[in-house]
Order: sequence, then structure tokens, then C-alpha cells
Amino acid sequence: MLKIALSKGRIFDETLPLLAQAGIVPLDNPEKSRKLILDTNDPEVKLVIIRATDVPTYVEYGAADLGVAGKDVLMEYGSEGLYEPVDLKIAQCRLMTAGFVDKPAPTHGRLRIATKYVNTAQRFFAEKGIQVEVIKLYGSMELAPLVGLADCIVDVVDTGNTLRANGLAPLEHIAHISSRLVVNKAAMKMKHAQVKLLIQQLQAAVDSRG
Ligand code: AMP
Repeated sequence: MLKIALSKGRIFDETLPLLAQAGIVPLDNPEKSRKLILDTNDPEVKLVIIRATDVPTYVEYGAADLGVAGKDVLMEYGSEGLYEPVDLKIAQCRLMTAGFVDKPAPTHGRLRIATKYVNTAQRFFAEKGIQVEVIKLYGSMELAPLVGLADCIVDVVDTGNTLRANGLAPLEHIAHISSRLVVNKAAMKMKHAQVKLLIQQLQAAVDSRG
């Protein structure tokens, strides 16, 4: 039995065609069903529907053999405990700092950064030798500079429309983001034939898109 961890929404929608090319089709739609474990046309494969930020945890602990997670989530989680064999090249965006274009940085005190990517933000500014105070938020990061909670934010940006609508602009590029196939290290050994075949099929599906 192979369990594949996926989050609802963009990642599920964009992974589905790749899984279909690997011959795996879910029998339920997670947007309609309340089931958290979905059967597929292959009795040996089940999909586990969880929050995007929980995917690395499920896969590292072996509760799922494989999973699909954004590089932003993996950078924040720390991916030493997982294999990351395939860049699925889906759900692409950029991890950026963002803020007011014309607002000078504070001349005294530390720059305050609001983000849900606390570790990644800490690392990014530390590498630049800038001391920052990172404030953890769980959503609507764009609000923080508007109400004086933070000087800037670290968030994923796609079109930039959300930032623009709030009078903010992308400032510094931190990383290009796409979703990755992640694999539990023990499953890679114990279920080698099954896992390797799926890795090859998904890589071929990605490559066929050019
Ligand atoms: P946008 O206005 O197109 O820059 O994106 C709006 C919001 O959608 C961002 O603030 C993110 O929260 C979210 N978003 C966009 N692209 C992605 C992605 N590839 N993965 C996760 N969240 C995303």
C-alpha cells in the first residue's frame, strides 16, 4: 500500500493530471467529500488529504509514504528528513519580501518582519547581516505593514495583485517556488520498486510538458 499526502486546492488540482499520467485517479473529489483518505482506481494507492504545512510532517514520520509540498513549506520545515526527488513544476510562484516602496527603513531599532515563514525569513536576513524581529502570522500578511505591525512581510507572490491592492510592492526575491514530490526515507528503501516506479512516472509526466 502507498499513501500519498496532498493538500486541497491548488496543489491537489495541479497534481491530479500528473497522477493521472502515472495511472492514478482518485475515486472521490476532496472538495465535495469530507473523507480524509481517498481511494483511487489503484487498490494499492490511497491519497491522504491534509493541510499543506502538515505534508512534510506526515511524510517524515512515515504516516504517508510520499507527498506533494511547496518549496516554501519545505524550506520552512527543513527538508533534511525527507527525499525530494522530483520538481513537479506546479503551483509556481516567488517567495519575496514586500513592503512600501517609498518608506525608508527604520533608522533605529530592528526591522520588523511579519510572516508565516519565520525560519526562512530569519535565515534570509541573517545571511544579509541584517538583524530583524520576526513576527509570526498565520494569514493576511499584507495587512501588517498597513497597520504598523511590521515594516515589511515575507510571503509568496504570484501575480502581485494582492500586494498592489494593498499599496505594497514586492521588494527582494528570496526563492523561486514550485511544488516538489517528497518521499519518506524508509519507504524509499522498504517499498523501493513501487516508489521508484511512481517517481519515474511522475518525472516522465513533468518532462512530457516540456
Ligand atoms: P497574487 O495576488 O497572485 O500575488 O497571489 C495572492 C496570494 O495567493 C498570495 O499572497 C499567496 O498567499 C497565494 N499564492 C499565490 N501563489 C501561490 C502558490 N503557488 N502557492 C501558495 N500560495 C500562493
